[in-house]
Amino acid sequence: MSNTAHQPTDRAARLRALPSVDRVLAQAPLADALDRLPRADVTDAVRQAIEDARTALIADRDAPIDAAELARLAAGSLTTLLRPSLRAVINATGVVIHTNLGRAPVSEAAELAMSRAASGYSNLEYELDAGSRGSRSDHLESLLHAVSGAEAGIAVNNNAAALYFALNAHGAAHAPVNEVIVSRGQAVEIGGGFRIPDVLRQSGARLVEVGATNRTRARDYANAVSERTAAILRVHSSNFRMVGFTEEPSVAELRQVADEAGVLLIDDVGSGCLLDTRQFGLSYEPRPQDSVAAGADLVLFSGDKLLGGPQAGLIVGTRESIDPLRRHPLMRALRLDKAAIAGLAATLHHYVGGEAVEEVPIWRMIAAEAEDLHARAGSWRNALGAGELEPGESPIGGGSLPGETRPTCVWSLAHPHPSEAARQLRLNDPPIVARVERDRLVLDPRTVLSGQDADVIDALRAVIGVAS
Ligand SMILES: *Cc1c(COP(=O)(O)O)cnc(C)c1O
Repeated sequence: MSNTAHQPTDRAARLRALPSVDRVLAQAPLADALDRLPRADVTDAVRQAIEDARTALIADRDAPIDAAELARLAAGSLTTLLRPSLRAVINATGVVIHTNLGRAPVSEAAELAMSRAASGYSNLEYELDAGSRGSRSDHLESLLHAVSGAEAGIAVNNNAAALYFALNAHGAAHAPVNEVIVSRGQAVEIGGGFRIPDVLRQSGARLVEVGATNRTRARDYANAVSERTAAILRVHSSNFRMVGFTEEPSVAELRQVADEAGVLLIDDVGSGCLLDTRQFGLSYEPRPQDSVAAGADLVLFSGDKLLGGPQAGLIVGTRESIDPLRRHPLMRALRLDKAAIAGLAATLHHYVGGEAVEEVPIWRMIAAEAEDLHARAGSWRNALGAGELEPGESPIGGGSLPGETRPTCVWSLAHPHPSEAARQLRLNDPPIVARVERDRLVLDPRTVLSGQDADVIDALRAVIGVAS
């Protein structure tokens, strides 16, 4: 369309050549859509594609007039109807708790429990013995007690909700006694714009920051206590680590301050790590049960980070501190869905039974040794006849254990356009998310679930162009 002298006739001819709706509907690219969607939806998409082409031609812009090409465009606009937007992907990044890829995959038992709860009726709020109304929190309480040692426990939608709820119910409920004391080093942003000071403000509590960014002592908390103090809040700094000249009081020290002041001690431990991470060569990640034992009144943690279950926020603590939450009107707004309760209960069972490392996928992945991963990456290389095996590091991720990695063995390939190759893998069905490091395409077997190897090999074959 660069030759302006020819444009009007050219344009008129092209406009006349636009195919009819029926001709486009008869093209192969729409066969699948016509099979699976109401004809009216497909017809609308075709009309729209033809209309867009007509508008573009009238405006002297280029547009397709070929019936098959228009059918492809119409089919493209129907993909969200044909295929759910949320899809299962293969995580070949090696990041175990990948926040953007849905955090923790749940265990087989949890998957089964979730699917049963979702697809049928259950005794969610029903006492089978008495045949009367029951409470949905009963399904979790004894399990939460067993794993944390706390007297009582409830579950809400996520840990952000747990923090908001705990502060709202205990911190802000009795203004002017609504001040919450937080160390300057812990008034942090956890991720996704989730900032502790903002949550405090939203909950109605008043933030009182104490100490210096790198050092806060028990005395700083004690000095900040007044008759307006409702609680002392401790927040695990999760996704970053301060090194060097730093100091923070322990939960036990804060317990003393809270006792002397007669205020509540709330500990947001973040990742919900119930196992001792030192057994995997990682540094120690604070555990809910340690906080409970050290005397925190309320301990908060996520369900889908290092707990390895579905999305949830767990609140465990003394009966006296949990009971007001149970009866609080916000509980109704923040309560967990039945499938999440079922999945969480199944996940907690793995810990109670001492089988978490074998059964909970994230622990299986974290526990995998470099030599096991070498064997898997090696099997990919053998199947492909391409790529190299290299030592690497798998980050734990998910705002837990910052900077901590496990030694791994990756499959990697020098590629002229590694980012394009990675994009092709993401467009695969199922999508595969890999890493690009300098001029190399890198896949870490640690986070590729068992049973996904064949998909990875097929996709790599297509993308790097090796014959099978
Ligand atoms: C991750 C995290 C949260 C938020 O938890 P979600 O379950 O994502 O809502 C809150 N506090 C800490 C310390 C965290 O690490």
